Amino acid sequence: MSLVKFVCTGCSCLCDDTEIEVEGTQIKKINNACVRGAALLSAADNPQRRAPCSVNGQETSLAEAVEEASRLLQQAPRRLIFGLDNSTLEAQAAGMELAQALGAVIDDSSSFCHGPLIESILTGALPSGSLSQIKDTADLFIYWGSNAHQSHPRHLAKFFLPFYTELEEAGWVQKAQLCCVEVRDSETSSVCEPVFKLLPGGDRDFIAQVLNISGGGEGTPEAKTFVELIKRSHFGVIFAGLGLTYSLDGDYSLFAEMVQKLSQWTRLVVIPMVGHFNMRGFNESLYKKTGYINKVSFASGISHGEEFGFLEQVRSHLADCVLVIGSDPFSSLPHHVLRELEGVPIICFDPFITPTTKAAQVVFGTAISGLEVGGRAIRMDGDEIPLPVAKSSGYPSDEEILKRLAEKVSG
Ligand code: SF4
Repeated sequence: MSLVKFVCTGCSCLCDDTEIEVEGTQIKKINNACVRGAALLSAADNPQRRAPCSVNGQETSLAEAVEEASRLLQQAPRRLIFGLDNSTLEAQAAGMELAQALGAVIDDSSSFCHGPLIESILTGALPSGSLSQIKDTADLFIYWGSNAHQSHPRHLAKFFLPFYTELEEAGWVQKAQLCCVEVRDSETSSVCEPVFKLLPGGDRDFIAQVLNISGGGEGTPEAKTFVELIKRSHFGVIFAGLGLTYSLDGDYSLFAEMVQKLSQWTRLVVIPMVGHFNMRGFNESLYKKTGYINKVSFASGISHGEEFGFLEQVRSHLADCVLVIGSDPFSSLPHHVLRELEGVPIICFDPFITPTTKAAQVVFGTAISGLEVGGRAIRMDGDEIPLPVAKSSGYPSDEEILKRLAEKVSG
């Protein structure tokens, strides 16, 4: 037995220092993974958790599942493809090809989470940077609306703690400041100094105060301290979490104005705390292909709009067949939204049994990206990370199934 390198796909930190020891197809030892990464690895070896290929609840061969899925896709006038945030770039490209071949709508979970922030970065409205570069040079870390300790358990250890590694006469010296903007006490806020505590929904107000002070006007003492902190830094990074996106209701214009204003005193970049390991990859790939990061229809050329978002498609009965890839909307969306899917055939790709695979007519039990199938992914900061295969499995990849479906529906 020997240790094998594994790039953890438990979240968009894509930790590349994780190792596993494999005996046959079983994982015997895990090094460096957090509890979330370890849970993914132990679920991989649990046959009770893995999804088989099935049609109407009956286990089938891959070929039979492909046959039934292509039949459902071909007979539906309006198809919706949703997910792909937990798939490799190669599978995402195959999913986009299939959507185009079908004239389908394609969307991912960024349309109700980090989409507006990623769009601002891709269009250049917000400056961003690479985590490798930040790790070496930043001196101010701001977690804004993000409890990284829970959502990305090794984020602080990988990207902030290296700043403690310089030993000087007085002992270990912290080379960067860690602070946060939060509405509640959290594990992350407990190690931050200062903590800018806001009322829920108060982010826009705080940003307006910061802008006012930056322009020479008045503001609250907290906003003044925030501006002073920025002025003293040489290179600051804001890790923007979902708390910020939801508080701003996805409108980053005032935030972008603030970042631009503060950039007169320091270099300031923004990195989205993306959850799914390759959501940014989906957004970047679709943006390159269509000019939009999500909510795209290929029904007649390329169109984009709110009506092509997953929630709107479901709420307004705009899809006659839904293909869900590596996502579990049945465990995260409100029941009243999901009720609208009654009678709509669902095809689901997932390595694990989930509420969505249980609701699907056709299920493809797939290989786990980064563990059982290799490829590439885009980390939260936009860096491309290669994913080597760490162990073999008999499960097909998302890419393989998507290509087989595309052949069938185009043939
Ligand atoms: S922080 Fe994320 S990528 Fe790193 S080990 Fe934990 S789950 Fe995996």
